[in-house]
This record gives sequence, structure tokens and C-alpha cells, in this order.
Amino acid sequence: MALIIDGKKISSEIKDELKVKVAELNDKGIQITLAVIQVGNDPASSVYVGNKKKACEYIGIKSLAYELSQDTTQEELVALVEKLNEDSSVNGILVQLPLPSHINEDTIIQTISPLKDVDGFHPQSVGALSIGQKGFVSCTPAGVIQLLKRSGISIQGKECVIIGRSNIVGKPMALLMLRENATVTICHSRTNNLKEIAKRADILIVAIGKPLFVTKDFVKEGAVVIDVGIHRNENNKLCGDVDYVDVLDHVSAITPVPGGVGPMTIAMLMSNCVESVLS
Ligand code: NAP
Repeated sequence: MALIIDGKKISSEIKDELKVKVAELNDKGIQITLAVIQVGNDPASSVYVGNKKKACEYIGIKSLAYELSQDTTQEELVALVEKLNEDSSVNGILVQLPLPSHINEDTIIQTISPLKDVDGFHPQSVGALSIGQKGFVSCTPAGVIQLLKRSGISIQGKECVIIGRSNIVGKPMALLMLRENATVTICHSRTNNLKEIAKRADILIVAIGKPLFVTKDFVKEGAVVIDVGIHRNENNKLCGDVDYVDVLDHVSAITPVPGGVGPMTIAMLMSNCVESVLS
């Protein structure tokens, strides 16, 4: 019977551990502050920002909300980020993506000080990860590593196939699995023989953004399957990139959607905020 990896439970454990650490820091007079910037009022972004604020509150991190109008200019946003970079009472800066199309996301990401880059998207953070140096790690892939470790799934020496090569999931995921001594293959939309390659995986990580794309023809018997995808189907129900029902009796462990990878992202963001005062 497959292990259903419980991301809700694991993320709660992490948040509770962080709450204890933050209380200890508070006792030493250290307060953690996260600045969260949202431009416009995209409903999905508002939900994500609201959840981040709630998590901060639970753990004892102070959150500063900057809710900017949709017509904020790039110059105004850069100026705000630079001001927060200089503000020694702010430990982490998060700019909720996507930004309106008149603002260049790369410019904004690169304006955030790498010392406050709790999303782990700054090129310096990504570079540090690729050469094994200390730096903030992108939250969703960091969450996948925690799911595997805390479920007792060993990574070292395993054949890991990652489907997807985005900057925020696929690429950092590959670097993290390499850091954990897996043998890593990255697949993407131009990969030939995708099913055959995916079937080699002991650990298959799927982040392609296509609902129910991965069926059991992609999965080796007994593999661990991690589904990063998240979508709403025609009945308004959440589903992942993996056809969970189809693969379930074929795998040794799997993350459900919802309740798998999803809850881990905020937990790891909170972990990065705590790291920001420890490093
Ligand atoms: P993305 O930027 O759209 O990247 C998708 C990747 O999948 C690309 O590298 C693309 O290849 C590859 N791909 C697309 N179609 C493919 C195909 N038919 N065969 C093989 N590879 C294919 O997406 P993302 O930001 O990484 O997100 C992926 C999924 O994870 C989405 O459903 C997103 O909502 C979800 N997500 C969840 C969380 C969370 O749970 N907290 C966080 C982030 C993302 P090319 O590079 O060749 O185009």
C-alpha cells in the first residue's frame, strides 16, 4: 500500500518547530520582520499574501504589508525595495509574483538584497545553490526535500527524474536533489522518450503545469512520486500534474493534491525568514 505523504502534517510540524525558535529569538530580543509587497489585487495573489501573513502571525514573525495599486510604476517599486533593503529592522522582502506586465520581474528580483531574498529567486541565491554555498533556497523545492526526508525516504544514490525546468521549481529542485546525492535527470517539453526516461526514476518529481499529465505509463513500479502541479479541474476541484488515481497502486509513496507539496511552500518561506536572522 502506498504511503500518502502528508504535506499538511509535515508543514504544521515545521511551523511549530519554527514557532519555538522564534520565541527563543524573541527572548533574546531578536524580532523577525518580513515585508510583503503586492502590486494590484489579483485574487489568487491576495489569497497567497493572506496565507503568508497568517503563517507569520502564527509563528511570531512580524509582517509588514505593502499593498500597491495596479498602476504602480517600476521605478516606484524599485524605490520601495531599495528602501526596505536599507531598513535594518526588515529581515526578509517578498514581492508577490506575477507582477503587472509593465513591470519587469527580473529587475525587481535583482533589486532585492540577496541577504533578504527569502523567496530564493535572486541570481546570487541561485548561483550559491549551484556551487554549494550558503544562500536562500526557493521555497517549493526546499519543501519537497523536507517532505522526502521527513517521510523517511532516502535520496542518496537514487535515480531522480524531474519533469519541468522552470527557474522557481525544476532547476532548483534538480540542484537540491544533486546536493542530496541523487543521480538527477531533468526533462522538459523538448525531451525525447519522456515516458521511458520517467520510468527510470526511483523518485519522480513532476512540475509541468499540465493537469493529470503523468499516468502510470510514466512511473516505475514502486517509485516515489512528488506532484508539484496544482490546478482546478472543470468541477472546481484541485488536482495535480499527476493522475493520482491512475498511479496510486503503482507507487511506494506519493504526494496528494491538495495536501502534498502545496502547504510546504509557506512553511519553507517561514523557515527562510528565521534563517535570515541566524545567518
Ligand atoms: P512553468 O514555469 O510553466 O514550467 C513548466 C515546465 O514544464 C517547463 O520547463 C516546460 O518545459 C515543462 N513542460 C511543459 N509541458 C511539458 C511536456 N508536455 N512534457 C515535458 N515537460 C513539459 O511551471 P512552474 O512554475 O515550474 O510550475 C509547475 C506546476 O507547479 C504548476 O502547476 C504550478 O501551479 C505548480 N506550482 C506549485 C507550487 C506550490 O505548490 N507551492 C509552487 C510553484 C508551482 P520547457 O522549459 O521546455 O517549456
